[in-house]
Amino acid sequence: METILQETKNIMKKYNIKANKNLGQNFLINEEVVKQIIKSSQISKEDLVIEIGPGLGTLTKYLLDQAEKVICIELDMKMIKILEDRFSLYKNIEIINKDVLKVDLKNIIKTEQEKGKIKNVKIVANLPYYITTPIIMKLLEEELELESITVMIQKEVADRLIATPSQKNTGAITYSVYYYASSEDILEVPNSSFIPEPEVTSKVIKLNIRKKPAVNVQNKEKMFQVIKCAFMQKRKTLLNSLANNKIFKSKQQGIEILKKLEISENIRPEELTIEQYKKISENL
Ligand code: SAM
Repeated sequence: METILQETKNIMKKYNIKANKNLGQNFLINEEVVKQIIKSSQISKEDLVIEIGPGLGTLTKYLLDQAEKVICIELDMKMIKILEDRFSLYKNIEIINKDVLKVDLKNIIKTEQEKGKIKNVKIVANLPYYITTPIIMKLLEEELELESITVMIQKEVADRLIATPSQKNTGAITYSVYYYASSEDILEVPNSSFIPEPEVTSKVIKLNIRKKPAVNVQNKEKMFQVIKCAFMQKRKTLLNSLANNKIFKSKQQGIEILKKLEISENIRPEELTIEQYKKISENL
C-alpha cells in the first residue's frame, strides 16, 4: 500500500503543486499523526465534520469514512480541483472554496441540522499557521453548536491556548479558550512530519466545548476587555496595568476594588483565575 508520503508526492507531481507558503501549506505526511488526529477527534456516523484547509485531502480521506458528512473549507482553488477529483465517488462531501474567516458557519451548521441526520458537529483541521488564532477565536466566539475542535497548530500557540488560567504560560487568550472549552494536549509533532517542513514544532490539541461557559458572568465582553487590558502590560502588576489602561478610574479605585475582593495589590495579570477577573469586571 502506498504510504502517505508517496501519495502526497504523487498528487503534488500530478497536479504540479508547489506548496504555497503564504497560505501556510505544510502537508502532513506522517501516518501515525494522521491516525492520532482521527482517533482523538472521536468521529461517528452521526457527526458532521467541518475540515478547515483540507489541502490535498490527507485527513479528508479518513474523515469521509467515519463521518456522516464532511464539509471542507479551502481557500486555494488548486486544492479544490484535487479534492473534487480525489473524492468524486463520495456522496458525503461538500467542498467550499472560500476563506474560512468569511464563511457563515452558523448558517452551514443550521442547514445540516435541519436535514435531521447529524447529532454533533466537530471541527478537525491541520490549520494554516498564519491565521491560527483568528480561526480559533471565530470558532469559539460565534458560539457555534460545536462539540469539539481538534486541531494541529504551532506548539507555542497550543501551549498558551490550553494553559490553565493562573498557572504558567497564560496569556489573555488562555482565558478566552478556557471560558468556552476544556482542553486536551494530544500530541507533539516534529517538523519532519510535513512537506515542506515548517519552521516551528507543532502540536495537536482538542478543545471540548463546554455546555455552559466556565464562569457565569453578567457581561462577558466587559470581562474580556478587563483581561485584554491587564495583559497589555504583562510585566506590571495587575493594579498598574488596569489603572494605566483606564479600566480602573484611578489607582485608588483599583486598590479599593482589589481590597474588597481580597486580591493582593501586587498580583500579576497571569496569576488571576477567571473567577477573579469576572469579579473585578462586575465591581467596576
Ligand atoms: N489538511 C492538509 C494536510 O494536513 O496536509 C493541509 C494543511 S495546510 C497546514 C493548511 C491548508 O489551509 C492549506 O491547504 C491552505 O491552502 C489552507 N488555507 C490557508 N488559508 C486558508 C483560509 N483562509 N481559509 C481556508 N483554507 C485556508
